[in-house]
Amino acid sequence: MEQVTRGVFTETQLRGCNPSYVVTSDGVVVIDTPQLPTRAVEMRKEAESHGPIRYLINTEHHVDHIFGNYYFKGDFPVVNHQALYDRFMVVFPDLDPYEYAREAIPSDDPDGAAIFPDRETYYADPNKGSIVFTGDLSLSVGDHTFRLLHTPGHTPGQVAVHVPERRVVFTGDTIFNGCQTWLMTSDVDQWIAALERIATLDVDHVVPGHGPVTTPAVLAVQRANLLDWVAAVSDAVARGWSRDETIARVNFADRYPVDIGQGYMMDHIQTLNAASLWDKLTAAIPVKPSAEVATAVGAGET
Ligand SMILES: [Zn+2]
Repeated sequence: MEQVTRGVFTETQLRGCNPSYVVTSDGVVVIDTPQLPTRAVEMRKEAESHGPIRYLINTEHHVDHIFGNYYFKGDFPVVNHQALYDRFMVVFPDLDPYEYAREAIPSDDPDGAAIFPDRETYYADPNKGSIVFTGDLSLSVGDHTFRLLHTPGHTPGQVAVHVPERRVVFTGDTIFNGCQTWLMTSDVDQWIAALERIATLDVDHVVPGHGPVTTPAVLAVQRANLLDWVAAVSDAVARGWSRDETIARVNFADRYPVDIGQGYMMDHIQTLNAASLWDKLTAAIPVKPSAEVATAVGAGET
């Protein structure tokens, strides 16, 4: 795995999130787990070569951050925000997370098939949180502090993990660095507040949920990407475009690639991002097709 700074390791080159761990004077703290089974087993072995694992922290409930917990069962607690815990591998109408994890096996981890549990076995004990908290939580482990900051927006139970002694923050998917942002069921207003909260931290290193390790400069870039999406879809609503028209016309596919191993999801991301924002924005101010209203963009075209 890649060393971010002394005692801090992450993996940005796999399909799935950037699973990470921090070595302290009293064992290791793991932050998110690899979605691919053989990679989860390998990462656990590597982490334990530095000392016993003390905690496993998850940053969000999306499958690419939590499925690998299954391979990290042990005598150390799993730490989840309450809103993450409530959604842990829950099957929603638009996504069956177990099926999504299974789909990746033939192409991305064929050797993982042998240790991929059937649905019943998996759900009997997926290794979800045993320490469940609301608000923020601070953990002292050896000579390190792990400040778990509730930073909702991308998901309701989103957590950033700040380790002041190493001047690093693990943001989960509050940051997509150099790859497509998944809006899905996000709350963009909360998300921007989360970015602004993370910006108050005195850190040198930002480990994003996806994409390469970076610096706090990425926070302004992520905010711009979110605001560009909102501006484009709110303009579509102002023009009176239907949901389908908005999906067909509003698209940021040319801005970034999709993160490793998920290029085939590009259309899905663009469609869901546009559709979810259209749903939210029209719920607040319903779309009113009217030739008599000079829209912001339309007015400039005359
Ligand atoms: Zn993710």
